[in-house]
Amino acid sequence: MFRKIQMAAFSVSLFSLPAFAQDSPKLHFDGKTWWEHVKVLADDNMEGRETGSAGLRRAQAYVVEQLKKNGVEPASADGYYQPVKFTERQVIEKDSSAVLIRDGKSELLAPGDDILFSARSNTGESEISAPLVFAGYGLQIPEKQFDDLSGQNLSGKIVVFINGSTSDIPAALASHYSTFSERWKSLRAAGAIGIITIPNPASMDIPWSRIAINRLHPSMELAGAEFNESEGLKLSLTFNPGQAEKLFAGSGHTFAELAALAKDRKPLPHFPLAASVKAHVSVQSKEIESANVVAKLSGSDPVLKNECVVLSAHLDHIGIGAPVNGDNLYNGAMDDASGSALLVDVAASLKSHPEKLKRTLLFVFVTAEEKGLLGSRYFAAHPAVPIKSIAADVNVDMFLPIVPLKYLEVKGLEESDLGDRAAAVAASLGVKAIPDQEPLRNRFIRSDQYSFIVKGVPSVKMDVGAFPDTAEQKIFKDWLTNRYHAPSDDLNQPKDLSAAALYEEIIRRLLIDAANATARPQWKPDSFFRRYAAN
Ligand SMILES: [Zn+2]
Repeated sequence: MFRKIQMAAFSVSLFSLPAFAQDSPKLHFDGKTWWEHVKVLADDNMEGRETGSAGLRRAQAYVVEQLKKNGVEPASADGYYQPVKFTERQVIEKDSSAVLIRDGKSELLAPGDDILFSARSNTGESEISAPLVFAGYGLQIPEKQFDDLSGQNLSGKIVVFINGSTSDIPAALASHYSTFSERWKSLRAAGAIGIITIPNPASMDIPWSRIAINRLHPSMELAGAEFNESEGLKLSLTFNPGQAEKLFAGSGHTFAELAALAKDRKPLPHFPLAASVKAHVSVQSKEIESANVVAKLSGSDPVLKNECVVLSAHLDHIGIGAPVNGDNLYNGAMDDASGSALLVDVAASLKSHPEKLKRTLLFVFVTAEEKGLLGSRYFAAHPAVPIKSIAADVNVDMFLPIVPLKYLEVKGLEESDLGDRAAAVAASLGVKAIPDQEPLRNRFIRSDQYSFIVKGVPSVKMDVGAFPDTAEQKIFKDWLTNRYHAPSDDLNQPKDLSAAALYEEIIRRLLIDAANATARPQWKPDSFFRRYAAN
């Protein structure tokens, strides 16, 4: 079924895009060599490439061997590897509890069914007890005079919010203020001591049941005070939207009513809830080490070679977890062996078909993306080259060549002229660049390009795209529901090698274009993210 839809759609695309068919541009890729690398990186032997695991180290060793073979040189102070230290945090569920109290009556909240405890909670040994306030999306966006927190007393309260934003706020801006660190910064300043996040049912990539079975998977933070984002946060829970009515009972509002508004991206009301939460969370920590892999192809221009264009992808995935249909190995073939394999394949193509590059190309295979973009964040804070010398980041994460590549969805398309360059390169190959079609999913901040963006580096993340309400989009949606962060994101899934080959060609041409352009990419004058470049 899956395959059939795909083949039918593909034959249509060949005939409906005469420009592409007639020009039949010479590609440096056939998709096959790319898939051979994916097969190695997503093999069961790599054990799902969990950060800090032997499986990830084996995958890194393979990548380093390929880079060496293709003449790509080490670029970290320590060679190919840039060591990164983490604190791993695991909730001990049997020693943790949360109770909802209303009218003097207590109801135990069941981990998995009702809630997930976040390991960010920092109750120490003591218990926390606080009233609940509903604060809409929990966002403060000064640029849009949008404020979910004003007029409410949040001091000493636990703030309940639904993930999302109103439709008048540009996706990139909403994404930025929806990051944990930005949101917590404003909530903390308003006096809040905890948060309860309700996923927006209209934008959940993974069904609650699958989120719940992996809730005991440990989380990680970068070691070191410079990276602490959760100061003052005493409790963090995620609430099952399917059970969220119980939070709103007695408040004069229902969750159904609020979820309907959130689905349409309308403003949400703010009001105190008729309940409080008493909780104790026990968290166990240990130190973990992993590494980014950083390598370079030096530019040839005497001046511009001191600048570099980064091609990034994350090599880590989520390892071994709860079994789904008897399989507990989360291979992460598309997420993101596909992107790491592409980096290796592009490096090989530049060896077999060299290009004169003015700027240096930096290949960055980050670790711990799945833990919250941590490897890239570390890299951007301690880059192997001066951060000001990084002219651009092109990030490849789960580009999903599972339908023909007719539309290239470019996150960051309208933010910088790197977006314009990406669109022009795509057009030269008969592919149309389109902006983010699903702003609710916050994808501009959900992969490693974001770590570069907040350091001022113009960045894009590009994916095989589709318009809403099309057969192709249904294929993506089904993929997310069934395979995203599931053991079935493995080597045994449909893929479109032609789409992968064409995508690789776009990446290759964009890199060469950005490396050789006279001026380095610039943020658009009206881009919100321009402010980071000024710092
Ligand atoms: Zn992922």
